[in-house]
Amino acid sequence: MSQTTDSAATAAHLTEPLAGLHWIANQGVPPVNASFRATDARTGAHLEPAFGEATSEQIAAACLAAQQAFCEYRQADPETRAALLEAIADEVMAAGDALLERCEQETGLPRPRLQFERQRTVNQARLFAQVVRDGSWAEPRIDHAIPNPSGPNPSGPSPAGPNPSGPNPTGPNPTGPSPTGPSTAGPSPAGPDCRSLWLPVGPVAVFGAANFPLAISVVGNDTIAALAAGCPVVVKAHPGHPGTCEILARCLNRAISRQHLHPGLFSLLHGAGHAVGQALVQDPHIQAVGFTGSLAGGRALFDAVCRRPQLIPVYAEMGSVNPVFFFPQALSQDRWRKLVTPLAGSITAGCGQMCTQPGLLLGPDGEAWQAMRQAVAEKVAAENYTLLHPGIAGAYRQAIAARSAPSAGLDVTTTPQDHEDSACQVGGAVFATPINRLLEHPALEEEIFGPTTVFVACDHIESMLQYARQMKGSLTASVFATPEEYDAAKPLIDILQTKVGRIIFNGFPTGVQVNHAMMHGGPSPAAIGSFTSIGTGSIKRFARPVCLQQFPTELLPPVLRDATNGPTLRMIDGRYQFTGPAE
Ligand code: NAP
Repeated sequence: MSQTTDSAATAAHLTEPLAGLHWIANQGVPPVNASFRATDARTGAHLEPAFGEATSEQIAAACLAAQQAFCEYRQADPETRAALLEAIADEVMAAGDALLERCEQETGLPRPRLQFERQRTVNQARLFAQVVRDGSWAEPRIDHAIPNPSGPNPSGPSPAGPNPSGPNPTGPNPTGPSPTGPSTAGPSPAGPDCRSLWLPVGPVAVFGAANFPLAISVVGNDTIAALAAGCPVVVKAHPGHPGTCEILARCLNRAISRQHLHPGLFSLLHGAGHAVGQALVQDPHIQAVGFTGSLAGGRALFDAVCRRPQLIPVYAEMGSVNPVFFFPQALSQDRWRKLVTPLAGSITAGCGQMCTQPGLLLGPDGEAWQAMRQAVAEKVAAENYTLLHPGIAGAYRQAIAARSAPSAGLDVTTTPQDHEDSACQVGGAVFATPINRLLEHPALEEEIFGPTTVFVACDHIESMLQYARQMKGSLTASVFATPEEYDAAKPLIDILQTKVGRIIFNGFPTGVQVNHAMMHGGPSPAAIGSFTSIGTGSIKRFARPVCLQQFPTELLPPVLRDATNGPTLRMIDGRYQFTGPAE
């Protein structure tokens, strides 16, 4: 079928009205009790159709189908997986305006933002396809056997170690000398042939967040990373955008059937309470969890996994305050003026509903600091913000009221107007406090999801360091300094490297690039697990290394054979080498 005909067929398939279905191995399953509807974020009206909680039988059926699909898909060659990811990207684009319209209604996010997010989602799938074809993400490693000079040792235990200097039967390195240079290690003990590779773990349970209904949802980072690694997924639909989830589910189903792959590779289960997610992570077929959302949600799912007889990894990305540190020169000589617009933009990006939103700003007290605070507050207060759903708006109002109360002891630069006319509309809020209050009241470090921040006036650079030493784990931290301040900034950067996943120099934290070097994560409570959730490094969340010892060539995966169909970057006897195609 040509691409044009295919896209036309897809579009027709996707314009079928939403039916509130769970999707289990490409079968639309009506809810037993249709109990909840999405809300139009702009008007507060309920949207059709009604969705329902997945039953325990439906959850079990989705997980069993995923396990059955895993038996086939884990063997699929890189080209098959890469082609699936590209087909998913095509299908998301083919969903066209129907996807964007529904998403805009359910989330209140404006069309240009959703177009941007859709592009990022599609680019991500295509980037991962390239990485899967390349194959080096799976870190193929070969340590050839080192014979025992005093005779064979066919089966006994051996103090095996890598062979840094032994023979390399693949012949000379076709691309030149090893980048690691000659090894200086001492003589190696005898040992057997060992080869290893990262292999898929099995079915993955995926939970997306409310604020990225495309890029961190049904076809989002965890789903793409899991499929790239070779794992089927069962997605718990986000109750804030269930219709968007259903459209995306159809895109995924369509891509899977176009590629003639097992339908159990993907299922979607709805639920508006916590029961569905709790049961999903407890299903014995599930072998890893990918979660993006609140700290409370991540912790609850982690605890649920701890109650399983078999423990499995939980990769949770949760909220954080993303502190920004300003050194004095960075604000002096009116430099602060240039920072006002980008800073206000970062605070209010996505109506402040970003996991990387700068929720704490620390800088030297003085004229420049106070002037910047006032100017930023005016910009933040100038807009009305439509939050994602009434629950998030309610939580925001409550948190702002608590921070505005005299007992909180904060200076209120600007507080929100009342917006009783809509369940989701709120105003921005900017607070200020001296550093001592932050050091004594760590509650100020709690993330408030919405357009708000706290300016923290510091009497000395040492007090910024003191806060950095005691701060909780965060996704990011930013440091603003001029070249004359680089030496002064070094101790702060040194501390921050132990506290966050990404440090931004002279820049604000919102906007996460999907690339190879990205680290979107950080120490708890920002995240659980040390692999990034965004960027190609996330594939490793859903794989684990397996060592094959003394295997005959015929039983090795092609990439672990001495002669392989490269080019592939492999570590051979302790040295990274590009191996070309077989002679
Ligand atoms: P959320 O309320 O935690 O929901 C995320 C998903 O988890 C939903 O499907 C939700 O479904 C489920 N869930 C929540 N609590 C659960 C529990 N106790 N047991 C089982 N399932 C549970 O988060 P959100 O409102 O979508 O997103 C806002 C938060 O996400 C913010 O804190 C934000 O900072 C964070 N976030 C983080 C990142 C990141 O990359 N680190 C990115 C975006 C957003 P049910 O409600 O149906 O249970």
